[in-house]
Amino acid sequence: MRFPSKNVSDSGPNRMAQVAFGFVISVLLCCSLATAQPRPSEQPELNDVHFHLTNYIQQGTDIRDFLEIMGNKVGRVALFGIPLQQDWSYQNSGDFAPTYYLQTDAPLYYYSFTDAYIAMAYRSLSKEQQSRFDPMITGFNPADMYAVDHIRRVLQTFPGVFSGIGEFTIHKEFVSAKVAGETASLQNPALDRILDFAAEAGLVVLIHNDMDVPFAKPGSEPAYLSQMKSLLARHPETTVIWAHTGMGRVVRPVTNHAATIEAILKDPRFNHVYFDISWDEVAKYLLTSPESLRIAADLINRYPDRFLFGTDEVAPDSQEKYLRVYMQYGPLWSLLNKETSEKVRKGNYERLFDRARPKVRAWELAHAK
Ligand SMILES: [Zn+2]
Repeated sequence: MRFPSKNVSDSGPNRMAQVAFGFVISVLLCCSLATAQPRPSEQPELNDVHFHLTNYIQQGTDIRDFLEIMGNKVGRVALFGIPLQQDWSYQNSGDFAPTYYLQTDAPLYYYSFTDAYIAMAYRSLSKEQQSRFDPMITGFNPADMYAVDHIRRVLQTFPGVFSGIGEFTIHKEFVSAKVAGETASLQNPALDRILDFAAEAGLVVLIHNDMDVPFAKPGSEPAYLSQMKSLLARHPETTVIWAHTGMGRVVRPVTNHAATIEAILKDPRFNHVYFDISWDEVAKYLLTSPESLRIAADLINRYPDRFLFGTDEVAPDSQEKYLRVYMQYGPLWSLLNKETSEKVRKGNYERLFDRARPKVRAWELAHAK
């Protein structure tokens, strides 16, 4: 507590009154600070690198309600919608309005307005509330050579908002084939342009790409592994988080999934690559048996800086629903050593996004319209 220095040499009753006054102010300030700042027991337990505020029909949780749901438990959240909108085709499902991609054969299409929606939700918050979010740009078609122009335009239209791009999807079980237009590919130069730009602007990239096709033949080489590795190797300056460690819904964990991941982690060409363990499907695979859990925990303990926790929840309406994947991972948390657990739940998120934020702000400033 600092008082005006001109009073320091004063003495006598005047000085006594000042000291007493100062003491009262100190106590008051001290108490008000104690209530404003969370006590150690109230420090957030986790950050969430993978969260969808809205669903496949662009409906979701009000951002203020979501802050309530986060409560003291969750510190920061990488925030995005879903770029793919499920078309309600009357020809296909009649009066039934599908809300999920598995509920109809009708196509999905890229809904770019999601980025404006997320930006406006973020901007409606106070500075302090905003500091708990890292909004991500998702509303682009990664098979379009113009996608990068969309990302640039979003940064210039909403400066001060976004820290990354994603989750966007290249290969995903039943989703890829349903997307209207050209199918996304890891070999498309449109994707290279996106990753180049992410490096230039400092954006964190969160990419969903199933390592393998559904129901792959056991023992076969994962279908998209070598293409993914080539893509990552081509962009050493881009910070990439590979969502779900490359696992998919009915993509059974490839034989030696952990060994495949470890080969990437120890290869210096991939020092810029991280993995998120989000999605209840991933938690389910990791927790299949004590053996699979031990393999996963050992791997994460060996590379504590390279894994991040995420929920992959979509528009939850309660903290219980929001944190169900976090709770599901209880057995994993208890097998990680203390420092690793802290990094996976919080530290790695903070390191990556604290680095991204000022870089993206600097890019925006240099390219202001
Ligand atoms: Zn995903």
